[in-house]
Amino acid sequence: MHEVRTYKEQLGIASTRLKSAGIDRPAREARHLMQHVCSFSATDLINRETDLMPKVETEAFFDLIERRSLGEPYEYLTGEAWFYGLQFACSPDTLIPRPDSEIAVDEALARLPLGRVSRVADLGTGTGCLLIALLKQEPRLTGVGIDLSSAAIDVAQRNVDAHGLGDRADMRPIGWRDWDGWGEADLIISNPPYIRSEVIDTLDNSVRAFEPHSALDGGTSGLDAYREIIALAAKGMKAGAWIVFEIGFDQADQVRFLLETAGFSSISVATDTGQ
Ligand code: GLN
Repeated sequence: MHEVRTYKEQLGIASTRLKSAGIDRPAREARHLMQHVCSFSATDLINRETDLMPKVETEAFFDLIERRSLGEPYEYLTGEAWFYGLQFACSPDTLIPRPDSEIAVDEALARLPLGRVSRVADLGTGTGCLLIALLKQEPRLTGVGIDLSSAAIDVAQRNVDAHGLGDRADMRPIGWRDWDGWGEADLIISNPPYIRSEVIDTLDNSVRAFEPHSALDGGTSGLDAYREIIALAAKGMKAGAWIVFEIGFDQADQVRFLLETAGFSSISVATDTGQ
């Protein structure tokens, strides 16, 4: 049990706790978590600083502070993440959308045939962030997001509904091996699992201990998902359709080889700022 204190005092205690756990911006995270628990705007919090924080909220707040101190990602604590300027629900059943993946959205947008209705498929959609960001940018797009995890699809569907895309995006709990929409897609986008199995154990604790391994583990070579998707795409996609993949920083040559061998052309690699 925590003592009854003012919001400001509790913030101070929480920041110290986060700081000693090695969290980068302890004061800022503590403030945002307090706002989340209390449903306060930044202004509400400033206005209420010297009020006593009610017990129930205090307990809920320090519960989150404790979980954060143990390395749980901030986004899982609040259930919210930002991607491409949009807010997304996320849960431990989905990866947390990452800023690097915005490059995939940009690259896809640059390749879509504009001026006509096109169809995009997001394979391993997770929160649905890639597909939803594309559909929000380009009103003439429709799309399908598939994921083996039905729990992830529930999250993706919530995001589709929250962004008002119910009539343009279809989220389906199915793997790419069982999906039959290859022939209708003008562009496939995918951020599949691509970490080599043997290095999963060496990932940052906040990733390894909390994010779904099914979304990270790309098999012994890290390339299992690319191999499968490319083989299926080569058989089923229509001529002129594109594939946009997110890949690991050291996978460009291997994925290019897989694509070339399967008969794809116009292959290019976009790189991020090196994260
Ligand atoms: N980029 C992610 C990470 O850093 C991995 C995402 C993936 O495997 N698709 O953990």
